[in-house]
This record gives sequence, C-alpha cells and structure tokens, in this order.
Amino acid sequence: MRADKLLANMGYGSRKEVKKLLKTGALIVNGNTIKDGKTHVDPSIDHIEVFGEAVEYKEYIYLMMNKPKGVISATEDETEKTVLDLLEPEDALYEPFPVGRLDKDTTGLMFLTNDGKLAHQLTSPKKKVDKTYRVHIDLPLLKEDEIALEMGVVLDDGYKTKPAKLTYPDQNQDTVLLLTITEGKFHQVKRMFQSRGRKVLALKRERIGPLHLDPDLHPGTYRELTDKEVERLQ
Ligand code: URA
Repeated sequence: MRADKLLANMGYGSRKEVKKLLKTGALIVNGNTIKDGKTHVDPSIDHIEVFGEAVEYKEYIYLMMNKPKGVISATEDETEKTVLDLLEPEDALYEPFPVGRLDKDTTGLMFLTNDGKLAHQLTSPKKKVDKTYRVHIDLPLLKEDEIALEMGVVLDDGYKTKPAKLTYPDQNQDTVLLLTITEGKFHQVKRMFQSRGRKVLALKRERIGPLHLDPDLHPGTYRELTDKEVERLQ
C-alpha cells in the first residue's frame, strides 16, 4: 500500500495533511525516512514508526462492549448518545459499527467491527446465529408459558417466533431467565414475553454465537477481541 494511503487510513489526516507530515520526516519504515507518499509499504511485514513510535497497522478492528442503558446502537444520531460515542479516538478511526441492534434500555454484549463480511455473516437470518439474553420479568411464568415461548409464540404483528430455549440461571429466582433465540425481530424478546402477558423489566444480552460478554467489562466499557475470539466468530 502507498505510504500516504497508510497514514491517511490510520487517521493522520487528509491526503494533503499526510503529504505535509511526510515532508517533516515523521514516517520511518525499516529505519529509512520515507518522504515520498508513493513509496510502497507493507504494514504486515515492514517496521513502521511515526513520530518515533512504532505503530501497529491493522485493517480490521473487533470490539466487544458492555452497552450501558441510555445509549443507542446506531452510528449517529442528532440527539441521542450512540455506542460509537463511547469509543476512544484511536479505535473510532477504524470506523467500526455496531453489529445488530439493542434497544436504548437494553444492556450487554454489543459487537462492533469494520469487517463488513463478518458483520453480514453474524446478522444474516440464514446463518441463524443464536443470541442469549438475561431477562428480568415482572411475574413468574407458568409451565404453559415456558412451553409456548420455546415452541414459538405469535407476536403482536402476527409473526410466529422460531423455537427458542429457556432456562433459569438461578433456581431461587423465578423471574430471571436466560432466553436463547436465533432471530432478531424488532423488540423481539420484549414482545415474546408480552405475548404471554409478562413485562420485561430488564434485558441484557450475554452471548452472540460463540462470543460471550466478558464479565469484567463494566457497562460503558469495551475491549478488543482476542485472536481466538475472532477466529471462533469467523
Ligand atoms: N429484544 C428486545 O426486545 N430488545 C433488545 O434490545 C434485544 C432483543
């Protein structure tokens, strides 16, 4: 890749700004100062320094965030705070976007990446990637509600949900459940419980396919995926 493109991709400014930067001798590749933007560099092999600091170039970024309440999972909004507003500038420059949606009042696992192919794989209905939600409801379910939720319930718009799995993570709490679904209709979990006359009081996504929310991530914080986590997702 051209040296000027590399620096622009890394957020060091526009093509014009990068040209100026190169003139100052800020870019050193394998010990040689590169002033010509047309010079070919290979970020996967070459040792690259900018302003005397070694830099790691990567094409893709993969982040898991524990989405807090009150933040929307869009890329931009005129009034609301978005998950992208929670990113550090050095991560935001890779232009990741949230994969899938969570409601404003839903917390938990949000996966963000700029890898469009992987994002598509995870959200394509054909792939049936399962997601697990921890759900707090207002009133316990009856056996018949549990069976209905697992077999498929009819939502308020007439849609019948695909088979789901329901478990109780804590035997002493009959209003806290784990629900695993393979689809992602609008407000699906809330509407599934609504169809059985229950109200969802709190909703947290804990898993997307093989990716589990890191319990060390407090709401509003995030981290990069490990190489293993990325491999498992692909
Ligand atoms: N289902 C919902 O109802 N809300 C979410 O945020 C995610 C799934």
